[in-house]
Amino acid sequence: MREQIDNLIKLQGIETESNGIRLILSNVTQRLNGLSSRLSGVEQTTKNNELKLDELEKSYRLYKSDVEMNISKLKKSQERLASIKTNKEYLSLLKGIEDLKTINSQIEDQMLECLEQMDDIKKFLADRANEYKNFSGQVNKEKQTITHETEKNNKRLAELDTEWKKFSGKIDPKLLKIYLMVRDKAGGIAVTSVKDAVCCGCNMNIPPQMYNDLQRCDSLKFCPSCQRIIYWKDS
Ligand SMILES: [Zn+2]
Repeated sequence: MREQIDNLIKLQGIETESNGIRLILSNVTQRLNGLSSRLSGVEQTTKNNELKLDELEKSYRLYKSDVEMNISKLKKSQERLASIKTNKEYLSLLKGIEDLKTINSQIEDQMLECLEQMDDIKKFLADRANEYKNFSGQVNKEKQTITHETEKNNKRLAELDTEWKKFSGKIDPKLLKIYLMVRDKAGGIAVTSVKDAVCCGCNMNIPPQMYNDLQRCDSLKFCPSCQRIIYWKDS
């Protein structure tokens, strides 16, 4: 009986380890997706800023061509001043010249503002480019670690599967049937130790007589509280 119980304990150990590995493996996709979305978040911020920079550059070019156009208008008006006959015409042309100067000065203020914003974005993008380089290196490293871990875990899982078959083959089929039944009813853990008369599966006390019998290891015993298969563990 002792040997049979030992094999059940081994079987339980194999299943516990397998379940732990399966839990890790089930999170792999989520972990990889999390890393990818963090990276694409950074990429998106960069892209948005590049678009904003493009728009600012476009505006700047438009402002610049407006200013140049006004300067050439100004030149022409100033040339015309010499050939003006009446005072009224002269004043009106002079006013037009002043208006053009005011407009150009306003446009130049907007151009300066544009340049400042462009500088800020360029600086931000340069900083981000550095951050992105470091961050993507870090993400790739993490992805490699996850891939490596997954390979190792899959290999270990296959080994455990082989071991499970090996040990389950050594167990009396009737006993294995009981084991599987208890396992399914007790949330995956069929075999548990009893230490100092306390079941480690449910933390309840084992009656003294049963605890004494348990130490003899001559028959299969079940915890009266959680119904798991129990075995005695020396404290
Ligand atoms: Zn119990």
